[in-house]
Amino acid sequence: MPAVCLWLMEMAQTDNRTEVAQEVDCRLLILGSGPAGCTAAIYASRANLAPLLISGEEPGGQLTTTTEVENWPAGVPGLQGPQLMDAMRDHAGRFGAELRCDHIVTADLSRRPFLLRGERDSYRCEALIIATGASAKYLGLESERRYLGRGVSACATCDGFFFRGQDVLVIGGGNTAAEECLYLCKLARRVILVHRRGELRAERILQQRLFELERAGKLSIRWHHVLEEVCGDDSGVTGVKLRDLSSGQLREEPMNGVFIAIGHQPNTALFDAQLDMDGGYLRTVGGGTATSIPGVFAAGDVSDPVYRQAVTAAGLGCMAALDAERFLDAPSS
Ligand code: FAD
Ligand code: NAP
Repeated sequence: MPAVCLWLMEMAQTDNRTEVAQEVDCRLLILGSGPAGCTAAIYASRANLAPLLISGEEPGGQLTTTTEVENWPAGVPGLQGPQLMDAMRDHAGRFGAELRCDHIVTADLSRRPFLLRGERDSYRCEALIIATGASAKYLGLESERRYLGRGVSACATCDGFFFRGQDVLVIGGGNTAAEECLYLCKLARRVILVHRRGELRAERILQQRLFELERAGKLSIRWHHVLEEVCGDDSGVTGVKLRDLSSGQLREEPMNGVFIAIGHQPNTALFDAQLDMDGGYLRTVGGGTATSIPGVFAAGDVSDPVYRQAVTAAGLGCMAALDAERFLDAPSS
């Protein structure tokens, strides 16, 4: 059975749990089950650190929201994001990492053992790897919030199916927006990409695919446009108001779905005023994964404002596990 399904089964079991919250002690706690957290768990379990991996609300992380992952080294053709994350979870479990479905809501890093409270249980640990990744950003429009989940989405692979044969808009100009368009073009009747500038940030290969779809009449790109309002009624989204930044003109047009793909923000709010950060990203020191508190390490998108790839997240996860091992093995620790 695919591992993410196992994760969900475990969640369902813990949902039905009647006993009181547990207090769990461990040497190494890993927050997050994306490529960084899973890779850290693989390395830490092989080093006999008996890590406890907390899945968070998105078991498997961002890659579970996409389809094909073409740039994972040695990836088999057609490798799907959820499939890759299932395999990573299985890999960590095989070497003895304990996997738990919980979401951490408070963290006290002022003394060791560190204390973290989850929605279900509390955790005390001697060392902590933070691999909480990043979450989708939204534009901040009131109408966007009103129709979230009722026509507005940040995940085409999760919600694209609901828009088969319909008209959808994608906002953004990076890799995520490009991939959302490629996916939606297979389902929707009409896909419109709205970008605030006149050139895309997405990789060349993805841009080429978009331009091919544009030539084939399956996609249209609105350069220098922004979304100003999502219109709708009780049934959900019915239209959008787009502003042409070149002419200043505002135009309303009918639309069934709006996909926001304008990037991600690091999940670091838990650590505000406790760990040093740069623009919300955890700051690491010494060329490794150590943060401003000894015994706390950061890996993946949560500490990487530049590369933000699955393979770099996995690499940082490996580094964090090795750094944590060295810390825990040091005589003073
Ligand atoms: P994430 O994958 O973001 O995982 C974070 C984890 O932390 C999640 O499990 C979450 O539940 C958990 N978490 C968060 N908060 C808490 C908390 N409070 N308590 C406990 N757990 C918590 N990269 C590529 O290399 N190739 C691609 O093809 C590719 N495609 C992509 C497609 C899309 C649509 C997106 C959005 C991204 C894509 N990326 C791709 C980027 C890649 O997914 C990320 O770089 C990578 O997932 C980052 O891994 P991570 O482990 O740092 O964090
Ligand atoms: P991104 O690269 O930061 O791009 C965000 C896009 O949204 C930019 O084009 C930006 O416009 C636009 N944008 C931002 N805020 C906006 C706003 N308020 N209104 C309108 N437009 C706005 O984010 P991403 O595409 O999510 O990619 C994030 C990381 O994940 C990248 O490192 C990417 O390589 C990686 N990723 C990789 C793959 C892959 O390898 N296949 C797939 C997906 C993601 P400007 O261009 O004008 O700034």
